Amino acid sequence: MITPATNTTPEVSILKQYIGGKWVDGSSSREIISTNPADNRQILAKLTGADKTDVLRAIDAASKAFPAWKATTPPARGRILMKAALLLRERKEELARLMTLEQGKILPEALGEMEKGITLIEWFAGEGLRLGGITQPSELAKNLLYTTRHPRGIVSIITPWNFPFAIPAWKIAPALIAGNCVIFKPASLVPALAVALVKVFEDAGLPPGVLNLVLGSGSAMGDILVEEPRIKAVSFTGSNEIGKRIHTICGARGIPVVCEMGGKNPAVIWEDADLELALGGVIKGAFGSTGQRCTATSRLILHVAIADKFLKMLLTEVAKIKVGNGMDTATGMGPAVDESQLKTNLDYIEIGKKEGAKLLCGGNRLTKDEYAHGWFVEPTIFDGVNPKSRLWQEEVFGPVLAVARADDFDKAIELANDSPFGLTCAFYSRDLTLAMRFTQEVEAGMVHLNSPTIGGEAQVPFGGVKGSGVGEREMAKEGLHFFTEQKTVFLDYTGSRRASNLY
Ligand code: NAD
Repeated sequence: MITPATNTTPEVSILKQYIGGKWVDGSSSREIISTNPADNRQILAKLTGADKTDVLRAIDAASKAFPAWKATTPPARGRILMKAALLLRERKEELARLMTLEQGKILPEALGEMEKGITLIEWFAGEGLRLGGITQPSELAKNLLYTTRHPRGIVSIITPWNFPFAIPAWKIAPALIAGNCVIFKPASLVPALAVALVKVFEDAGLPPGVLNLVLGSGSAMGDILVEEPRIKAVSFTGSNEIGKRIHTICGARGIPVVCEMGGKNPAVIWEDADLELALGGVIKGAFGSTGQRCTATSRLILHVAIADKFLKMLLTEVAKIKVGNGMDTATGMGPAVDESQLKTNLDYIEIGKKEGAKLLCGGNRLTKDEYAHGWFVEPTIFDGVNPKSRLWQEEVFGPVLAVARADDFDKAIELANDSPFGLTCAFYSRDLTLAMRFTQEVEAGMVHLNSPTIGGEAQVPFGGVKGSGVGEREMAKEGLHFFTEQKTVFLDYTGSRRASNLY
């Protein structure tokens, strides 16, 4: 597989699809080329893309593998996952470097993502010992009511490019521990990392056909991943456009689906906030991972009493962010993932200007010297953004922060909730009463008090409301339960012939 160990030019890896336990070429005529977004002359990996034929082959392989995998006890499945987690700990630095090369995020962020993904796999591995149902007292004497959980069958897992390791990990691990067989379709911008992850599961002893990897364009094989009758559930993370389409198809088929989609997350800084703390949170939330997080802070709501002071502090701090190659230890913000995302960022910067927002900093593509061959853009802040404008309402998915001001709490909540999205948010204040009001009134799936909008932990649910997500939450028990069917068992041990059912 691909093992670039330094930031010197690695060899080009020739990647394969993983179907039925074998590494094979895809059947499409399209070549997928993985390049370094910090230096697009550097080709990291190539492969022949998969198409519908390959997806069908993968579903055949999964169908063959399913009975034995279903019959494998959950603790035994958990031991394979734990082995994968151990191998990943050994390969953590190597894979983090690969992530920085392929996706562009700075190395400390890549290491953080690796740690998060490995912890998620460990957490779900442990769930193999807890994959139980519930028991409840019955209305009837000598009757026992209990539930059991079972795999759904073959499931499709479709993932984006921005968290190329953690998102696949938080979907694949619960699907496997629950006894499902998986068709994994990652984003074609990050094939090398997807291959490396699947290779770890192979090395951990996962039986052939249980996890299958199909790498290719969504349009070449998208619908079959969702429409094929043997696919029993779909877990998707990505854009609203594709998520809504997948949700509609699954709805028509009557199969369970989870779609985690976009975000436009507000951070509210109140007049009594610890401004230094808030400053660190906003910098991390807005410009960390080049703003390419569904949980990124993209709207900043400032109490009028501290707005000017806070913006001054923010501009001083943003000026210190060194944009550059994520392999360089001095770099604070890496490139956009590709030319298309860079163009989206620049388009929204133009939209912001046309809509009359005040550009406070940034706004330009960087092209000189070390930036000449990468997709670099400056960290950008707009003040005075109209809440009805596109810059306030639409997801940019880049390092572009929109600022508005509020003079009372109701106005701050109104601004925060004025969005089609509702993934996450932050509130910085020392006032517990206001903080609790915020948690009650804000429309979001996750609330951060005195901490940035970003982040999630294996043991608590992750996901959003409104346009940010439909279906079950991910991670934690909820993430596991999505991949299971339940059975309720009514056990009558009276041994008498009287009719026992009251209803
Ligand atoms: P995308 O929707 O373009 O692609 C996501 C995945 O869907 C890719 O693997 C893609 O190849 C595949 N796909 C494309 N067309 C398809 C089709 N017709 N059928 C099936 N699959 C298809 O998203 P992206 O650009 O990779 O990722 C960025 C988006 O992801 C942003 O909107 C971001 O907010 C969102 N995101 C959300 C979360 C969350 O948890 N809410 C997390 C990360 C990213």
